[in-house]
Amino acid sequence: MGETMRFVLIGVVLVILVASLSIAASSKSIRIEAESGEQIGTQVSTNISGFSGTGYVTGFDKADDKVVMKVQAKAGLYEVRIRYSASNGEKGFELAVNGAKSSGMFAKTGAEFAAVYVGKVELQQGLNKIAIEKGWGWYDVDYVELTPAIASKKPQKLPETLADHKATPRTHALMSYLAGQYGSKTLSGQFDQSECEYIREVTGKTPAILGGDFMDYTPSRIARGANPNGLVEKLIKSAKAGQIITMCWHWNSPSGLLDTPANPWYSGFYTKATKFDIKTVLDNLNSDDYKMLISDIDAIAVQLKKFADADIPVLWRPLHEAEGGWFWWGAKGPESYIKLWKIMFDRLTNHHGLHNLIWVHNCVKQEWYPGDAYVDVVGVDAYPADTSDPLSGNWDDLIKRFDGKKLLAITEFGGVPDVAKMHRFGARWAFFVSWTGNMGPKKMDKEMLSKIYKAPLVVNQGDVKY
Ligand code: CA
Repeated sequence: MGETMRFVLIGVVLVILVASLSIAASSKSIRIEAESGEQIGTQVSTNISGFSGTGYVTGFDKADDKVVMKVQAKAGLYEVRIRYSASNGEKGFELAVNGAKSSGMFAKTGAEFAAVYVGKVELQQGLNKIAIEKGWGWYDVDYVELTPAIASKKPQKLPETLADHKATPRTHALMSYLAGQYGSKTLSGQFDQSECEYIREVTGKTPAILGGDFMDYTPSRIARGANPNGLVEKLIKSAKAGQIITMCWHWNSPSGLLDTPANPWYSGFYTKATKFDIKTVLDNLNSDDYKMLISDIDAIAVQLKKFADADIPVLWRPLHEAEGGWFWWGAKGPESYIKLWKIMFDRLTNHHGLHNLIWVHNCVKQEWYPGDAYVDVVGVDAYPADTSDPLSGNWDDLIKRFDGKKLLAITEFGGVPDVAKMHRFGARWAFFVSWTGNMGPKKMDKEMLSKIYKAPLVVNQGDVKY
């Protein structure tokens, strides 16, 4: 046994002792100081004042850098809080508990420490290994605190109303159906029909929800030769065969496309690919750009109307992931985003008379919320390192704001989530919609994919009734 190994073992013993002492001090929470863990590529520091214990761990700057803590605990679900510092700005991190990973975000703190709730984890009886792994890196960790989680309740009943007061009976029926399942079961969903085919081949099941994208109906793309290839007509066929339809829109900006090799026209929904400035446009309602903005919405209204004419409700998720800032509609902050959301809501419901839409808002930060009168479903998009991550941190934050008010769902997911684990963690997302390609079902082990789709908690196409 080498010196290092002996040192590690002594460290482990010390951590266990410290952890046991913490349990004795408080029967509820277990606090594990990061500096008492094993530093792999990381170091203990005392430079920033205000830490707990004897220091904190810093130096998460290379791919495999981490701190590994060991703790004795009773088996069960625990809430995790991490005290950290992210002086320069928001940073992502990975939490690994006995190998099961979940992803989280540290908000900017400046040169001080802050504690953040990051979600629930499952601990086993006896020794557990808790690691904080780099993610984006460039943050400091003071301690991890584990508190036994109280069994989470089912979400409260949702109101019967929709944001659109003139919503059709069929649209109401879909929403009532979703609300009826909410808390007990989770509907499966998948973007792209060919991906649904794959799921059918592997699992024998068809996703309850089919997702599509109005991207190639955008006027600035059509003008450059894009062709939607009758997507809407195909989706209508699938809807008539029993799938629920959800639509997003990678909206190529109406004007200002850079159209350079680095930022070609077909990436024109990205902020970096256009000069289109949503704040300026919304401050100048007589501008040509504003007129183009409205005529783009009108072009998509034509497509939405095809669903309406066939009496097909649509889970409509426009202006997605705005808070990330990578799409032009979110690039100028929440104020212009909310203005645009309301303009779109008014244009589609009141001007175009589209009453088959269930409005899906897709931001988690409170300042981006357009208001209860404009939203029916609140969705999270997630591409976690570990597809079994139940996104319990997101759930716990959102259910506090939206319990008894709005339905919560996973509107995009990288891979196919572990629904049984979600429910075990109390994260009872109403539905999930997986992305495509290497971020879709093909990423999954076939046996796992099959297990998820056949789970009794999952609602697939044949089971949907409304
Ligand atoms: Ca500490």
